Amino acid sequence: MRYLTLVFVLLLSISWATSYLTQETFMQCMATQFGPYTKFVEIIYASNSSSYSYLLQSSQQNPRWLNSTTPKSLLIITPFQESEIQAAILCSKKYGLQIRVRSVGHDYEGLSYLYKTPFILVDLINLRTNEINLEDETAWVHIAKKNEIHEFPAGICPSVRVGGHFSGSSFGTLLRKYGLAADNVLDAYVINVNGEIVDREAMGEDLFWAIRGGGGASFGIILSWKIKLVRVPPRVTAFTIRKTLEQGATKLVSKWQHIADKQHEDLFIRVIIQDVGNGTQKTKGDPLEVLLDRTLHKSFFKAKSDFVKEPISDIGLEGVWDRFLKEDMVFMIMDPYGGRMNKIAESETPFPHRKGNLYNLQYLVKWEVNSIRASNKHVHWIRMLYKYMKPYVSRYPRSTYLNYRDLDLGTNKEGSMSYSEARVWGVKYFKGNFKRLAHVKSNVDPNNFFRNEQSIPLLPEY
Ligand SMILES: Cc1cc2nc3c(=O)[nH]c(=O)nc-3n(C[C@H](O)[C@H](O)[C@H](O)COP(=O)(O)OP(=O)(O)OC[C@H]3O[C@@H](n4cnc5c(N)ncnc54)[C@H](O)[C@@H]3O)c2cc1C
Repeated sequence: MRYLTLVFVLLLSISWATSYLTQETFMQCMATQFGPYTKFVEIIYASNSSSYSYLLQSSQQNPRWLNSTTPKSLLIITPFQESEIQAAILCSKKYGLQIRVRSVGHDYEGLSYLYKTPFILVDLINLRTNEINLEDETAWVHIAKKNEIHEFPAGICPSVRVGGHFSGSSFGTLLRKYGLAADNVLDAYVINVNGEIVDREAMGEDLFWAIRGGGGASFGIILSWKIKLVRVPPRVTAFTIRKTLEQGATKLVSKWQHIADKQHEDLFIRVIIQDVGNGTQKTKGDPLEVLLDRTLHKSFFKAKSDFVKEPISDIGLEGVWDRFLKEDMVFMIMDPYGGRMNKIAESETPFPHRKGNLYNLQYLVKWEVNSIRASNKHVHWIRMLYKYMKPYVSRYPRSTYLNYRDLDLGTNKEGSMSYSEARVWGVKYFKGNFKRLAHVKSNVDPNNFFRNEQSIPLLPEY
């Protein structure tokens, strides 16, 4: 027993020493890259810094993974300038560390701030500026922002930022009129694996194609997007139809899904079915955005998504509600397709879910008190719902949306990433575009530096 304790203490001190040395060495490397950098202390936070925990937790939508046993980043870097991000990439490569980049931590599976192997977290919290040019109706954005005449067809949640959001495609209520956010991107600045800043011309059309829907984290760090602003029609009817189960949800969905993809494009509709149980009365009647708002109702959740090509039968829908009644806080969000989405080819961007889809379906279960037991229970529930839905949704492949990330579909294995294994989840997100993404990845990041549990793998021949 005494021997075991000794071994344990020894191992513990070695691991502390290693991480301490790594932090020190890494900081020295950054300092060398910066030159005589004055604000050094304001952007690099070691894990023993008093601000570290606050910073780590402040930008994350789904705190279900963060507990005392979660591996944390060695350092958090909050750059104000591009050169500081370049330095972080070069130093991470030099010391064999991984990098995680976070815009606002909305990733459904926490991939922007979690990793099993030692990593550096680059938090883009300080990079937030916009330049809007109303003359040519374009804007350069670090974050999404709206003005009164012009809009942008991105997601509806005001707290989502554009780093991961646009690079995963991004859609909201303007989808049927203008397509995805990624369809309206004109240019971008990205820091590539060599630490170089490249725009569309310098990065080439292949990489520019890949970052507009293939997920930025596989290819580099996106600094900004140039977007085409769109004009909102003078008379717009926007609906969020929310039904609780007692209010005839079957009738509503049953009728709506026959016209979902055929409505006028100036009619912006999203249907939400919710059941928020007895314990959560305070959320009843609030719009979904409030329910999801990270400051008001930050809570633990798991989500999954599907695409629907044929109307779901009433019996099928009733089966969903039966399952809803067994949970406390559940949502089903339906975004109609058709319109502009029918006119864009599947290969135009990495997002292939275009013609032939009636609507996108997102299932979401939330809970307010986290524990392994609670988490397992709710996650099991949503997995069973997903299984139940199989006959009613797209197949070959059963398609899903990258921005509603779901690690249940499969993950890369650290150290032995395989293209053929990754295809299992890759074709669900990207269909035939997955191979092209792997091709781009192999060309721009042949050593697979930018990687995570669902990053695009290299092709086998590389
Ligand atoms: C409350 C809420 C509402 C949402 N509403 C919508 C919606 O209406 N429509 C929709 O399409 N989606 C929606 N989403 C999903 C959202 O688009 C994804 O979660 C998206 O990945 C969030 O991007 P982020 O940069 O905010 O998150 P982060 O967690 O910061 O990043 C997500 C992923 O992108 C990577 N990444 C982040 N920044 C960069 C960068 N600058 N360069 C390269 N990689 C980067 C991260 O490493 C991570 O892999 C919503 C999510 C939430 C939590």
